[in-house]
Amino acid sequence: MTATTADVVLVGAGAMSATLGMLLKQLDPSLKIIMLEKQDSVAQESTDGWNNAGTGHAAYCELNYTPVKADGSIDTTKAFNINSAFEVSLQFWSYLVEEGSMPEPDRFINRAPHKSFVWGDKNVAFLKKRYETLKAHHLFADMEYTEDRDTLRQWMPLVMQNRDPSEKVAGTRVPYGTDVDFGGLTRHLVGNLQKQDGFDLKLKHEVKDLYHKANGRWAITAKDLDTGEVKSIDAGFVFLGAGGGALPLLQKSGVPEGYGYGGFPVSGQWLVCRKPEVVEQHHAKVYGKAPLGAPPMSVPHLDTRIINGKKALLFGPFAGFTTKFLKQGSFLDLVKSVRPNNLKPMLCAGMANMDLTRYLISEVMQSHKSRVDALRKFYPDAREEDWELAIAGQRVQIIKKDPKKGGKLEFGTEVIATEDGSLAALLGASPGASTAVQTMINIVEDCFPERMATPEWQEKMKAMVPSYGQSLIEDADLLKSVRARTLSTLKLNP
Ligand SMILES: Cc1cc2nc3c(=O)[nH]c(=O)nc-3n(C[C@H](O)[C@H](O)[C@H](O)COP(=O)(O)OP(=O)(O)OC[C@H]3O[C@@H](n4cnc5c(N)ncnc54)[C@H](O)[C@@H]3O)c2cc1C
Repeated sequence: MTATTADVVLVGAGAMSATLGMLLKQLDPSLKIIMLEKQDSVAQESTDGWNNAGTGHAAYCELNYTPVKADGSIDTTKAFNINSAFEVSLQFWSYLVEEGSMPEPDRFINRAPHKSFVWGDKNVAFLKKRYETLKAHHLFADMEYTEDRDTLRQWMPLVMQNRDPSEKVAGTRVPYGTDVDFGGLTRHLVGNLQKQDGFDLKLKHEVKDLYHKANGRWAITAKDLDTGEVKSIDAGFVFLGAGGGALPLLQKSGVPEGYGYGGFPVSGQWLVCRKPEVVEQHHAKVYGKAPLGAPPMSVPHLDTRIINGKKALLFGPFAGFTTKFLKQGSFLDLVKSVRPNNLKPMLCAGMANMDLTRYLISEVMQSHKSRVDALRKFYPDAREEDWELAIAGQRVQIIKKDPKKGGKLEFGTEVIATEDGSLAALLGASPGASTAVQTMINIVEDCFPERMATPEWQEKMKAMVPSYGQSLIEDADLLKSVRARTLSTLKLNP
């Protein structure tokens, strides 16, 4: 077995590891970082452009980020947090573009106005209240609302084509919403890291095991999938950014912080249209309301996608059920993840979510016609022959212990870090890559607390993310200046 040493090992070459690698290399260029990826290229799983929806989640259009409270008012907590976290991503990407580490922004981010659209009295009343509540805050001050059909026809012509005139409809719009090619972004980040000394990308290297040594460092075992050679890497810090593969590796690490966690895989599918005459009539991400009983990530949306400069339309997602944790994973993933310490939470969460399983199975069984029927609720004139099915990435939703119910299923993202800060793992998938920068900053703060407190790292953080250490939710002037810069640098201004 060959052995090597690194300061940091990043497992997986998706958006999360790439972001953490770039942050750490900016903070300390002398760090020796090894990135291990089992595929033969970067960003092949959830991060690849067509494996996710590419929405720069900012809560402008995603109605599930603003639930209704018991008293009937709108809960804005999640919307404010996600919006301000996305502003952190925009600042970091702007910094990288300005300093020449990233190419022209349109290679990974493009303006696609974010719009919500609803029909029916109850939904219209909800959207109006949501708009009034959000608009009152500086983060959402540019949001517009209309029930006027002519205005809606301008905002979303395909959605309004041949729509029942008796139906009550409403929409909101934020002009500087984004479509992000997270695959492109990640490939540029890793490409830049590869040009730096002390960064080593090892493709076709699958991490098989990891072991916490008595001296506090980690021994990581990876198999070279070309030669079969097994290699050992001695590292001071490990990040399990392996997407759906993070949970099994967290379990192998044996750290007590990982006890009780399980995963529930949910796959996704899209309808995709590449016909220029249809594609050119829609330039937006239009989000609706999830059907009753559907999980939060299945909110339907009709989206402009721009990947490698090519425009297409995407509608979905249609959920699906599989036992794989990665798109290119194994059907045994779910079964192999069951351990004595997570059996109870998994059984309890499973029993409490039988409706979800039934929903997912019914989604898988849908025909092309029934999927296009769902699309027609959004785009009444959609033609079956213009759309084809594409398979999206895998999400592994988190199952964890719950003192009352024994176990619960969650739809968010959770970072698990060991007490000594030598290992961090990212579980879950939402709001996903959009908030990667804030999530990775939190990891640096948790796992490198002393170095993060030094004047050098503080200064560098401020250079990369000018709002660092301040609240964009509370400081309207700060938000104004930060947003003016990012919209201009990333060419997102209308
Ligand atoms: C259907 C769908 C829609 C989504 N829509 C959006 C959206 O609109 N906006 C948004 O912000 N986010 C969205 N997301 C979420 C977003 O795609 C993810 O949060 C993000 O891509 C996760 O990045 P990652 O680096 O953690 O994981 P991944 O991109 O999955 O990368 C993990 C990598 O680890 C590798 N790996 C796994 N196990 C091992 C191992 N043992 N050894 C070596 N390598 C390993 C994998 O091969 C993979 O390359 C969506 C996700 C899905 C599935």
